[in-house]
Amino acid sequence: MTLATIRGMKDILPPESARWTSLEASFRAHAERYGFREIRTPLLERTELFARAVGETTDIVEKEMYTFTDRSGESLTVRPEGTASVVRAYLAHRPGTGDGPVRLYYIGPMFRHERPQKGRMRQFHQMGAELFGTDAPYADAETMAFLHGFLKESGLGGVSLEVNSLGDPGCRPAYNARLTEYLAERDGELCDDCRRRRERNPLRVLDCKSERCIRATADAPSILDSLCGPCRDHFAAVEGALSTAGVPFSRNPRMVRGLDYYRRTTFEFVIPGMGAQNTVAAGGRYDGLAELLGGKERVPAIGFAIGVERLLMLLGEGAEASPAADVFLVTTSAAFLPEAFRWKTELVRSGFRADMDYEGRSMKSQFRRADRSGAKVVIVLGEEESRRGAVGYRDMGRGIQEEIPAEEAMRRLRGVLREG
Ligand code: ATP
Ligand code: MG
Repeated sequence: MTLATIRGMKDILPPESARWTSLEASFRAHAERYGFREIRTPLLERTELFARAVGETTDIVEKEMYTFTDRSGESLTVRPEGTASVVRAYLAHRPGTGDGPVRLYYIGPMFRHERPQKGRMRQFHQMGAELFGTDAPYADAETMAFLHGFLKESGLGGVSLEVNSLGDPGCRPAYNARLTEYLAERDGELCDDCRRRRERNPLRVLDCKSERCIRATADAPSILDSLCGPCRDHFAAVEGALSTAGVPFSRNPRMVRGLDYYRRTTFEFVIPGMGAQNTVAAGGRYDGLAELLGGKERVPAIGFAIGVERLLMLLGEGAEASPAADVFLVTTSAAFLPEAFRWKTELVRSGFRADMDYEGRSMKSQFRRADRSGAKVVIVLGEEESRRGAVGYRDMGRGIQEEIPAEEAMRRLRGVLREG
């Protein structure tokens, strides 16, 4: 059998995995400061959930989902995105309602059967957040400020925030009609996909990445000109709150998002000049989704998702291999393995990374391993030293070894390792 991963999926190994861990830790810290708490939902959901929530005419549902019939005959789908599951879970459990808005964040893998390429995987990862229970423009601005702060702290330069409003079911149909008319006149200039979808979901044509469609729709009517009064006011207030928070942004009336459930505010953080994979994070308001999933009332909500692979790619290489150990225990003979093991477990319990060789190899090869481990200190446990209640203490940086009492070695170690 082949040991290769499935196409578009990959193993994340050390030291690369350390970049993931620290990015996730930073995301958690930002989320918690804004009052978001973590939610973990199952990877598998009923296919119906995504068909309804994401929308039948989206790329995801039309052609990207990993869907299968399980042994009890039910159609299941491995989640292609996070929002649908979070909304389902929110409606099922109503965590923390009655206390104002409910803020939830998630981190985890998503699965889409699309063509693998740089920045586009079949198993990829998202970090996302959803804020339920308010349609106040401050909520929209808060999620963008959160993302802005997080991306800035991760060290991503040159990222810009683009915002748009898609209106609501009151005013969007009129825009759809105008756009459909506009697109009908340019049918011949559109790509095959867009020719097919321009009647069912004309907004999607504005999201198409093909050069032809971008050119053909360059002067398409702007959705911002079609907003009704309340949607226009909401959008203006979101822009105002972003300015208040000191978050720079620009308008992009062509930005429509691939998912059907969005209402009013949509936004993306993009890196100009990165081609079709230039979107690092995307989000928007989805006030109608709860009802669509069978919720009893309208639950206003806004959220976003960050593509982790894309963010890491943009942040560039630079995974520093962190040392495998702070201290390495070397034994002069196998008889001292128990003593070394006692040191190792005690050091680890005290919060240090300690390692040793379990195989009773030669001292030379133990020292070779100690060197490669990056340990700052090697403790040598052997006959002569132990007879005097001492150990060998080797400072790897200076290459100096001394014999000192075991107690003192432990004390000195704590000092050295605490200083870092
Ligand atoms: P795109 O237009 O790039 O296909 P999308 O609209 O399908 O994006 P969303 O569903 O909004 O993307 O997902 C949010 C983010 O997740 C994207 O901005 C991107 O950073 C990331 N993402 C989406 N699909 C993939 C993928 N196949 N591989 C890696 N990252 C992805
Ligand atoms: Mg996509």
